Amino acid sequence: MTVTAQWVWMDGELVKFEDAKVPIMTYTLHYGYGTFEGIRAYQRTNGSSHVFRLKEHVKRLKESAHILGMNLIYSQEEIEQACIDVLQKNDFKTGYLRPLVYLGSEGMGLGALDNTVHLAIASWQWGAYLGDDGLKNGIRCKVSSYQRGHVNISMVKGKICGQYVNSVMAKREALNAGYNEAIMLDPQGYVAECTGENLFMVKEKTLITAPYGASILGGITRDTVIQLAKDLGFSVQERLFSRDEMYVADEVFLCGTAAEITPVKEIDDRKVGTGEPGFVTRSIAGLFFDIVKGSYAGYGDWRFDYQI
Ligand code: PMP
Repeated sequence: MTVTAQWVWMDGELVKFEDAKVPIMTYTLHYGYGTFEGIRAYQRTNGSSHVFRLKEHVKRLKESAHILGMNLIYSQEEIEQACIDVLQKNDFKTGYLRPLVYLGSEGMGLGALDNTVHLAIASWQWGAYLGDDGLKNGIRCKVSSYQRGHVNISMVKGKICGQYVNSVMAKREALNAGYNEAIMLDPQGYVAECTGENLFMVKEKTLITAPYGASILGGITRDTVIQLAKDLGFSVQERLFSRDEMYVADEVFLCGTAAEITPVKEIDDRKVGTGEPGFVTRSIAGLFFDIVKGSYAGYGDWRFDYQI
């Protein structure tokens, strides 16, 4: 896959993809001190396009910048509009948006406090993150030898660039060992989340996921799943659980903007449940995809419509 588009939004202007460049001394390139978002735009069966939960993603971007003490000068509304502008200028009826907040190249060294704060928004076409087959039939996961950072080491509620080194290490380890995704434990040994997805297990029709306060990103898809599950009449528990409790779950699935709702069919070479996507996973995924791609009328507040 080549990640490309015609236009990129940079500091208030739409610039040609080939001109969207940064100097080699860009501070964030060296130290990972920056933050980003991942947002999806979908087209529904009636032909209309929308960005899914745009407000929540922009809010989290601003919160991540706040955690890092970066002064992002753009308002919530300005960033939302910029995301729409990128999709429209590229003529993207669907797409993946990648806003990135980064520090400029004025000063090097960890103590450079006055570097300028920049915002760029790129976009590209991105299919099923864990593959079409994974989305349909489930993926194979491995509990990682890497763990999620302690909450006083990693700013876990921020989507901070440098923190993704840990995620990439875990992802590469899993891929190199022949699995699709890594499951990461927290510093106490409880199941936290994956490298770019939150994790749910299902026991006797109850959904169980790590609590918001744990060493996890507060996923927007996680929040979506919790609401959909409750609306479908399933109960949801946010609590700690160990890997062996997960081994004997009836169902396990991952959720995230890129991964959407991906069933897990195997963990550490053990079949999850029957080895096929279970009833609860299918119910949640069915409603989710009907909301984002289908014709389900409800949850309109989650769709930020735009014209192409
Ligand atoms: N955890 C991590 C570490 C992630 O990078 C992501 C992707 N943003 C998620 C969970 C899922 O979050 P969301 O549903 O907001 O995309």
